[in-house]
Amino acid sequence: STTVYYDDDADESYLQSKTVAVLGYGSQGHAHALNLHESGFDVVVGLRESSDSWPVAEEDGLDVATPREAAAQADVVSILVPDTVQPAVFEEIEPALDEGDTVQFAHGFNVHYNQIRPPEDVDVTLVAPKSPGHIVRRNYERDEGTPGLLAVYQDATGEAAQEALAYAKGIGCTRAGVIETTFAEETETDLFGEQAVLCGGVTSLVKQGFETMVDAGYSPEMAYFEVLNELKLIVDLMYEDGLGGMWHSVSYTAEYGGLTRGDRVVDEDVRENMEEILEEVQNGEFAREWILENQAGRPKFDQLVQAEEDHEIEAVGEDLRALFSWSEDDESDEQESEPA
Ligand code: NDP
Ligand code: MG
Ligand code: MG
Repeated sequence: STTVYYDDDADESYLQSKTVAVLGYGSQGHAHALNLHESGFDVVVGLRESSDSWPVAEEDGLDVATPREAAAQADVVSILVPDTVQPAVFEEIEPALDEGDTVQFAHGFNVHYNQIRPPEDVDVTLVAPKSPGHIVRRNYERDEGTPGLLAVYQDATGEAAQEALAYAKGIGCTRAGVIETTFAEETETDLFGEQAVLCGGVTSLVKQGFETMVDAGYSPEMAYFEVLNELKLIVDLMYEDGLGGMWHSVSYTAEYGGLTRGDRVVDEDVRENMEEILEEVQNGEFAREWILENQAGRPKFDQLVQAEEDHEIEAVGEDLRALFSWSEDDESDEQESEPA
């Protein structure tokens, strides 16, 4: 059964007399560094000397050093640079790791697929907020939490889990709840989810729906509203109250049509495709492909990104979003809820 940890389960003393090096000051890095700092922990940010983020982190009140120097000062090294550059950054900092130090991640990819092999005398842990970094930061500032995952890959000190839990508390995750998992499970579920449903599945569904309507002679603007814009409203309902909350809010006609037609769109063939995709995640085939693609300078990736940018739905969407007022204040929740 699933173990969930909250504030009371975490003992900050496991991190209290230690220094945490946060490598990277991007999405996750800035949130972890600032939240830990404000929770009273000793933080040093690790950045390349050329980094534009260096003065930003300093203005935010944090100490900054090169990744190697930061790791040398630290007892816990949290690696929050992009997954594709982590192996190179790890190589740079590995000589600065002492026995009993911790190497920590927010995603298990490099450890799970053996792109990073930490020495046996360090702890290897994972604390992964299930949110982009700016949400992790915003929730913390509002005294709210961000749900997260925690895993221990290697426990050299016998205290790896308690220390990771203290870290999770420091960034605000135990306020909301932290689920215990493994590097394998975190990595594989994360990759499958983003490929099959969240990023891959949904965008393909949207594009296919859009193309079906436009090919049949309907206006691209109408198609855009039907399959992309309204998707947010449907997802919000599911997020708030599950599938049932969504079905409850739409019309009976939408409910009957959806219940009878949904499984015809996403049918057994799609299910088989999903199982294949999951297998490629589990057997390392996807990881191998992506690592080689990066080594080759991302030729296929760049091509796919370009094709996606060139899709008709993007041009239609850009024009429409510029015409409607909701595009102006979509940054601010407060404004949205203000009466007109
Ligand atoms: P970002 O892309 O936001 O990281 C950018 C930071 O990394 C910048 O500070 C950049 O510094 C630094 N950086 C980039 N390349 C190098 C390099 N070669 N050497 C040193 N520093 C470098 O990363 P994310 O926050 O998105 O991801 C970090 C980790 O968190 C990943 O493992 C990711 O899977 C995980 N994660 C991310 C989530 C998200 O929503 N973003 C959610 C949960 C987990 P510079 O200014 O020098 O370019
Ligand atoms: Mg050290
Ligand atoms: Mg992911």
